[in-house]
Amino acid sequence: MKNIIIFGAPGSGKGTYSDEIVAKYGMGHISTGDVLRSEIKNDTELGKIAKGYIDNGQLIPDELMIDILAKTYDELPEGKGVIFDGFPRTIAQAEALKKMLAERNHDMGVMVELVVDEETLLARLLHRAIEQGRADDNEETIKKRFEVYHKQTEPLAEWFEKEGMRNTFTWKGSKEQMLADIFAFLDAQ
Ligand code: ATP
Ligand code: MG
Repeated sequence: MKNIIIFGAPGSGKGTYSDEIVAKYGMGHISTGDVLRSEIKNDTELGKIAKGYIDNGQLIPDELMIDILAKTYDELPEGKGVIFDGFPRTIAQAEALKKMLAERNHDMGVMVELVVDEETLLARLLHRAIEQGRADDNEETIKKRFEVYHKQTEPLAEWFEKEGMRNTFTWKGSKEQMLADIFAFLDAQ
């Protein structure tokens, strides 16, 4: 399988669909959010830095994030393809990813964009707050994350469009439908 970049707002289902894609195609998975949460749990230096940003709904600075991504990527087995979940989130990160993959002679692959209306996103994140108790899933931080998403991350969709990589999947109320559409697209790659 080619590399896949899964892209969307907080709560759009990047992690959920990534797990389904990994189960079907047996590729590697890098969730930058999970990497950071594990650092926080282990109380590492990186975790201490990351916590301040995450709890405020802000992004971790690009340079730090790019280093983490490259290190994580190089630890995965080569040749099976990787799904990038939560990265890139800024144009600088996208440019860095492009450069990193080119240096390794690897292809960027395809981008899967999840488009979900904000009312649904908010309801999902509040529900997740009860189920998983994530520190950043409270209404105030969620609002900040949406703002950051609109300002810093959403413009990236155009960047992918220009790269000829953008493939959009819009939520119409059914996870099965969304998954079937994504699988049909990926099967054709
Ligand atoms: P989803 O619910 O779709 O999985 P999310 O946006 O709620 O997405 P994560 O992707 O797990 O959650 O990210 C959680 C937090 O980790 C972000 O709000 C941000 O602070 C930090 N983070 C994760 N990835 C990046 C990144 N690529 N650049 C900067 N910060 C990041
Ligand atoms: Mg996630």
